[in-house]
Amino acid sequence: MPTMTWPQDADTVQLVALARQWVDDLNLTAVRQWKAEQPGRLAIGHLPIYAPRPILEAVGVLPVAVFGGGDQVDIIRGDSYFQSYICHIPRSTIELALGGQYDCLDGMMFPSICDVIRNLSGMWRMLFPERWSCYVDLPQNFDAKVGGKFYVSELRRMARELHERGALELTDQRLRQAIADENRRRAVLQRLDDLRHKEPWKVPASEVYLISRVGGMMFAKDHADFAEAYLAAVQKRPARARDNVRVVMVGSFCEQPPLDLLKTLEKAGCDIVDDDLQLGMRMIDGPIPEDTDDPLAALANAFLFQGVACASRYIANDVKGRQLIEKVRSSGAEGVVFSAASFCDPALLDQPMLETALTNAGIPYTSLKFAENTGQFQVIREQAGAFSDAVKLWGEPTGTGVTTATSC
Ligand code: SF4
Repeated sequence: MPTMTWPQDADTVQLVALARQWVDDLNLTAVRQWKAEQPGRLAIGHLPIYAPRPILEAVGVLPVAVFGGGDQVDIIRGDSYFQSYICHIPRSTIELALGGQYDCLDGMMFPSICDVIRNLSGMWRMLFPERWSCYVDLPQNFDAKVGGKFYVSELRRMARELHERGALELTDQRLRQAIADENRRRAVLQRLDDLRHKEPWKVPASEVYLISRVGGMMFAKDHADFAEAYLAAVQKRPARARDNVRVVMVGSFCEQPPLDLLKTLEKAGCDIVDDDLQLGMRMIDGPIPEDTDDPLAALANAFLFQGVACASRYIANDVKGRQLIEKVRSSGAEGVVFSAASFCDPALLDQPMLETALTNAGIPYTSLKFAENTGQFQVIREQAGAFSDAVKLWGEPTGTGVTTATSC
């Protein structure tokens, strides 16, 4: 893995600082170091939300989750590639790519989550024709014999093309190991989320976010070790219980809000007990079968049958909003904060249907919008504070929807 080491007795402050250092490093220094240690190694970037990381790990490739430039990049060239009325992440992605920050990536995967990512994949091909580029057409048919078969053939194609570029050959044994590693990572993150639901004051969302996100540039087994170390450190940290309002944050699954936005919500009295910020890490609900003759089919079927609901996934026979309501109930949340990137079509088109489901279930909500480089949080703080007070102090009647919107 890219070299990330930490003292055996590292505390939460050290581990969170280390995670932040990696997340903020737009030059991907650790990825460069990992490649330099053994020339010929491949690192492949992928855009949100979900990418089949185990297939990359199985062929010895380092998957690198790419989330644009956050609030650290001035967009100059990136703006000239896109119209003004779309989200921010494709602009900063192009800005960084043209600036050379992604030179260490041997290719890029573009999951089929929206038109913007599709367009970005086309631009990438034009700008970097020599690099591997893969549009990941995720199945929207959930029959194993149709969508599953298609996805298996796509996974096989990815492995074959990467092998032609120097990756290891895909074998069942390697894929089984990669799936086992992914399962272990998923289990540790689940423990982290369970703790968050029960005692959110011990694991602030702003920390969980960094601990989760840093895994986007690590192999699953190394990320599991790192998250384990954080969990162990959390148990040693004194923490006083708080009586904040517990909320689920929804809509930030692709472009990521600035870390300060999460801290602002926390300061405004909201304990974010669940969110979809790093949804790709949590896209598969439960372990992927490991003891199987056909691990490729197991990986594909896990997406079909264990994939969690999200805005870019077709809901066939399920009820829109069911999983969100279950998440609110199981996490002990008292309300929902819709937090979508400005101009994010999938999130903003989904939101009215989710609001209706919440209203029918008697769950209050509020909504705000952000851009990855949002720098002003006072209005958000006031809005979140008002929502928190309404729910907590005055027992805002549920089902009314405490809806105010902040645009960025
Ligand atoms: S933020 Fe929304 S619209 Fe923009 S690329 Fe991501 S999913 Fe697509």
